[in-house]
Amino acid sequence: MWTCPYCGNSGGVGFVDPNLKGMLCMHPNCGRFDEMTEGRIELLMRSDLYEQSLV
Ligand SMILES: [Zn+2]
Repeated sequence: MWTCPYCGNSGGVGFVDPNLKGMLCMHPNCGRFDEMTEGRIELLMRSDLYEQSLV
């Protein structure tokens, strides 16, 4: 499960394109982008949160 490293919020949406992968924080007072390394993306892709976020 993803948790925002800036505010600790657990609500985020996945963002993936050829150059950038990560999660965008959905907290109204945060909204920061947490860039992922390949290893972290693989862990997230196994989590329910990530799959739901991409729908
Ligand atoms: Zn945040």
